[in-house]
Amino acid sequence: MSELTGEVAIVTGATRGIGRGIAAELAEAGARVAVVGTAADRAQVVAEGLPGSGHAGFGCDVSDSTACRGLVEAVSERLGAATILVNNAGIARDNIVLRLKDEDWQAVLDTNLSGAFYLVRAVARPMMKQRAGNIVNISSVVALTGNRGQSNYAAAKAALISFTQSIAQELASRGVRANAVAPGFIETDMTSGLPESVREAMSAKIPLGRPGSPSDVATVVRFLVGPGASYVTGQVIVVDGGMVMHP
Ligand code: NDP
Repeated sequence: MSELTGEVAIVTGATRGIGRGIAAELAEAGARVAVVGTAADRAQVVAEGLPGSGHAGFGCDVSDSTACRGLVEAVSERLGAATILVNNAGIARDNIVLRLKDEDWQAVLDTNLSGAFYLVRAVARPMMKQRAGNIVNISSVVALTGNRGQSNYAAAKAALISFTQSIAQELASRGVRANAVAPGFIETDMTSGLPESVREAMSAKIPLGRPGSPSDVATVVRFLVGPGASYVTGQVIVVDGGMVMHP
C-alpha cells in the first residue's frame, strides 16, 4: 500500500506541464486522480497514461463557477468524494500596466484566483464532513516579489496565498489542511516561449543553476498532501532553486 492509497485527488490544469507532473506523482503515490483540463478528451488521454488505475479525465473551465460545482459532483460520482484538491490551472496574459487590457486583467484573475475559490468552496463541505482533506494552491514566486509585465498575474498569485492562509484557518478544526506552493522558473509550455536571452538571465539568478522541472514541484505537492506533512497548514513552500530568499 502506498501513502495515498484510497485518496481521490482533483488536479486542475493537469493536461500539461506542472499539473501533469503532479497528477503523475499523486497517482504514483496510490491516489485515484481526476485529471482536469479545458477539454475532457485530452484530459482522458492523460488520465489513461497515469500509473495505477481508477483515474479519469474531466473537462472544466475553472473560471466558471457553475462548471466547478459540476466538476466536483462528477468526480464524486465517478471516483468518489475528493480528499485532495490541487488548484494548479493557470494562465498568463503579460503586459506592462499601461498597456494591460481590462480583459487580460480579468481573465487572469478569473482563472488563477476565482477558479481556486469556486473549487475550494465546492469541496470544503464534503471534506469537512469526512474530517479529512488536503488543498494545495499553486501560486508563484512573483507573488512574493512582483514582476514587471505581470501585475495581473502577480496580484492573482499573491491573493491566492492570503486565500490559502484564510481557508487554512477556517478548515483546520475539521481536519482539512491547505497550503500553497510557489514555483520559480519551471520548464513548461508557459515558459517555453521566452527568448533564449531571458531564459539565460533567469537561470543565472538561480543558485541551484538550472530551471526547475514539473517533477521538482510535484514531489513537494506529494509531500504536502501526504502523512509526512500532517502538522503543516497555511504555509507557502517556495520551489525555485533558491532564486528568492527571504530572512
Ligand atoms: P501550462 O501553460 O503548461 O499549463 C496550463 C494548464 O492549465 C493546462 O493544463 C491548461 O489546460 C490548464 N488551464 C488553463 N486555463 C484553464 C481553465 N480556464 N480551466 C481549466 N484548466 C485551465 O502551465 P504550467 O504548467 O507552466 O503552470 C501550471 C501552474 O503553475 C499555473 O498556475 C502557473 O501559473 C503556475 N506557475 C508556473 C511557473 C512556470 O515557470 N511554469 C512558475 C510559477 C507558477 P488545457 O491544456 O486544457 O489548456
